[in-house]
Amino acid sequence: MVGAPDTLLTSLPLMEDFYTIQGEGAYQGHAAYFVRLGGCDVGCVWCDVKESWDASGFPPVSVEEITRKVTFSGATVAVITGGEPLMYDLTALTQSLRRAGIRTHLETSGVYPLTGSWDWICFSPKKFKAPHPSIFEKADELKIVVYNASDFDWAEQFVQEVGDKCVCFLQPEWSREQEMLPAIIAYVKANPKWKISLQIHKYMNIP
Ligand code: SF4
Repeated sequence: MVGAPDTLLTSLPLMEDFYTIQGEGAYQGHAAYFVRLGGCDVGCVWCDVKESWDASGFPPVSVEEITRKVTFSGATVAVITGGEPLMYDLTALTQSLRRAGIRTHLETSGVYPLTGSWDWICFSPKKFKAPHPSIFEKADELKIVVYNASDFDWAEQFVQEVGDKCVCFLQPEWSREQEMLPAIIAYVKANPKWKISLQIHKYMNIP
């Protein structure tokens, strides 16, 4: 599904799009227009958007139309998410958004080669499929979803891979937040290179 190198993918399966507040990570609290692309083959057992996995239900929408919707909303930041957005060559989409003066932010598990021009890359690796090495040096933010205590050791391997300037977050999986928060707080106090990310959009009841 990744576009051939000599062709630009000018339409993408748009599952949903909405203007909201970024609830997680380094840009938490910022207004942002979310563009959720359909399609994912990572298979996280706790995935909260399983309906995104099958891209065939989402008709392709042109990058011009996506850009028009972002611009019309008044947003200055577009967050490209999924699903797994790097299943597609995102060169044309990011070029179009940047031409319109929109900042381009990516949320990815990193399992496909990196494409596109990005102002911010949030790399959130998953245990269920190994990331492609092209993501490591480009990641601005490392976000590990913590489901159980064994995830702390698993998270540390990625700190070695990403650059020194990458901001590192531990974020409790939503259904396990109350159970895991004490352990995450203790871990961050003992390992202060990490910060805590909470999904504040869920507290605000917004998408
Ligand atoms: S990578 Fe994201 S969309 Fe894909 S299964 Fe995991 S949580 Fe769900």
